[in-house]
Amino acid sequence: LPTPWLTVLDDEDLPARLPRLARTADKYQRGVLGVVAGSPRYTGAAVLTVGGALRTGIGMVRFVGAAEPADRVRARWPEAVVTVLPDDARDVAAAGRVQAWVVGPGLEPDDVGHALVAQVLAMPVPVVVDAGGLAVLAADRSLLDGRRAPTVLTPHAGELARLLRMPPGGRRDIEEHRLAFARRAADEFGATVLLKGTTTCVASPSGLVRVNPTGTPVLATAGSGDVLSGVIGALLAGGLSAFDAASVGAYLHGLAAQLVSGPAGRPISATDLWAALPDAIPGRPD
Ligand code: AMP
Ligand code: MG
Repeated sequence: LPTPWLTVLDDEDLPARLPRLARTADKYQRGVLGVVAGSPRYTGAAVLTVGGALRTGIGMVRFVGAAEPADRVRARWPEAVVTVLPDDARDVAAAGRVQAWVVGPGLEPDDVGHALVAQVLAMPVPVVVDAGGLAVLAADRSLLDGRRAPTVLTPHAGELARLLRMPPGGRRDIEEHRLAFARRAADEFGATVLLKGTTTCVASPSGLVRVNPTGTPVLATAGSGDVLSGVIGALLAGGLSAFDAASVGAYLHGLAAQLVSGPAGRPISATDLWAALPDAIPGRPD
């Protein structure tokens, strides 16, 4: 490729980029991820995100949310540590210490959603913002002011058009110039921006772009993006940089979809990705 800022993540690079699992690691050293997701209407998003993180390999997932998604998470993932928030959404930090957060899948961009995103972004740890969290940010960009820890934004083209406050038709412009808009957003927000779609690309605030070589159109199904946010969160909690976590996460998520869908392109649903994720992840010896 003639452009020095543009690369394709290579499968030979992958094992060396995964979090190192020390032989003596305990679960806290391995990484703890906090997940703030779900709402009474979108309970499944919380379950999907937590599953994406757990199946990527992580020391612990702490889930924080409303009673309905919290019940669903407890029922599907007994290994998750669950904190139910009061209705005013105060005190996300009461969940305990984490090395990274995911905020937004299935969140409504209302006052409660705003309060949750604001609390998470005020904490000095890496954060992945997706879905409803991106809608909150689109309405109130000041939530990123003063933030020093890394931030990963994971929009599809429609969400990026809202974040950039583009006029109608913005989504189409983004689809035609995906790399340029991902770079522009990374620069404007001072964040790593993963632009989802047919070919996912990841832009860093310093102007680098990685294009993801894995994936399949069967990923175009409700909930697959929620799983991706959990995968990226687990990699961040495991100590990867924001740029590596986002690009390696997209790679593993796309490969998991290919493995479960097969060469014939069998249809999948988002929950199928959980079982395929461990097969997509090469071992990382000490
Ligand atoms: P979301 O838009 O949040 O539901 O996320 C959808 C996921 O599916 C993202 O990881 C997209 O990159 C992926 N995806 C959507 N459409 C396609 C497609 N046509 N080909 C490959 N991946 C896709
Ligand atoms: Mg989504």
